Amino acid sequence: MKIIRQSVKFDKKLLDKDALEVINVINKAGFKAYLVGGCVRDLLLDLEPKDFDIATNAKPEQVHKLFKRSRLIGRRFRLVHVMFYHGQASHSARKFIEVATFRSGKVQTAKNGVVVRDNCYGSIKDDVVRRDFNINALYYDIKTQEVIDYIGGLEDIKAQEVHIIGNPKLRFKQDPVRMIRAIRFQTKLGFQLSNEIKSAIFEQASLLGNISAARLYEECIKLFHNEYGFEVYERLEKYGLLKYLFKQTHKNEFIKKALLNTSDRIKKNQSVTPVFLFAVFLWQAQNERFIALKNKQNCSSLAMNQASEEVIINQIKQVSMPRWLSARIKDVWLMQPRLEKMQPKKVKALLGNPRFRMAYDFLLLRSISINPELVKVAKFWTKAQQ
Ligand code: ATP
Ligand code: MG
Repeated sequence: MKIIRQSVKFDKKLLDKDALEVINVINKAGFKAYLVGGCVRDLLLDLEPKDFDIATNAKPEQVHKLFKRSRLIGRRFRLVHVMFYHGQASHSARKFIEVATFRSGKVQTAKNGVVVRDNCYGSIKDDVVRRDFNINALYYDIKTQEVIDYIGGLEDIKAQEVHIIGNPKLRFKQDPVRMIRAIRFQTKLGFQLSNEIKSAIFEQASLLGNISAARLYEECIKLFHNEYGFEVYERLEKYGLLKYLFKQTHKNEFIKKALLNTSDRIKKNQSVTPVFLFAVFLWQAQNERFIALKNKQNCSSLAMNQASEEVIINQIKQVSMPRWLSARIKDVWLMQPRLEKMQPKKVKALLGNPRFRMAYDFLLLRSISINPELVKVAKFWTKAQQ
């Protein structure tokens, strides 16, 4: 392995103070600690890092002992979270810095090739090769202000390319989530995927079906709650990955508008919620099921309820969601026919419903995409709020 040390002086203001403190404490105790992964990549690209991860040669128990407010987490591999509280000691001001001990690439795999244990400690060189992509395997030494590159990550950043570390087919087999990570980074950074990655995904997309629904929930939020969710959606579809996340979902104008809308909101620093996106993604399936049931049993509200339940049950086989989330999705759906009726006597109660805002946004988006016949209804509710 050829090692490149490139001197890069990042503006101190861009570095997370708490992460720097953690590194300093670990270094003072005689260990080595570096910033690693996405934060180094993003800083090199003048992007604001989402989080600052740390890699160290100290064992988790040793790190834990150095920080009063820290905890050991993780089963498949152990990590330390160092907690920080800013402002008032309220929940909202709480955050943690994740510290991972260098691990070797040695993994224990199940029969299907999925990694079940990945907790053998190693050197920094071992830690490099267990990571997913070259661009994610850069380390930053805050003392010498150098980026340490064992694998060609710096070159890839310059060339704007995503290359996987090791054999792509094998690495995707070990952890199929890497396939959707590849798509996410490609899109977020505007990079090219290597041909090897492309063909390995085309070949092995179905492996994503082996991943637990709980893990995919977190990943789905990362995929779509950002400024480029629609591009991610299109690429997931192109590579045959989308059906392993949302098999009931097929692209339409409504989905496109909702994803673009979400990105706009994020750009403007407005809040977003997975309720809206999941409700949009599953609406068509819900509607088709509703029509089929309605033809059989004739009671609209029962059919609406049952269709919602069935579609959600199908969905959580692939991507799980917390209970509150499925409950709110249903609320948004069940409010649609009520809004569509525009009954004067119900206007006040509907306006006062805590879910009105989202249900109205949902209706508005339908009216400008797949349901132009609802433009009048949307106008009615726009006016009613004034
Ligand atoms: P972002 O935070 O912008 O989503 P990131 O690269 O920091 O991107 P994280 O999920 O925070 O992604 O992971 C931190 C680092 O851990 C990655 O940069 C990568 O080196 C490593 N990593 C994460 N997930 C995997 C994985 N499934 N396989 C191998 N390495 C991984
Ligand atoms: Mg990160």
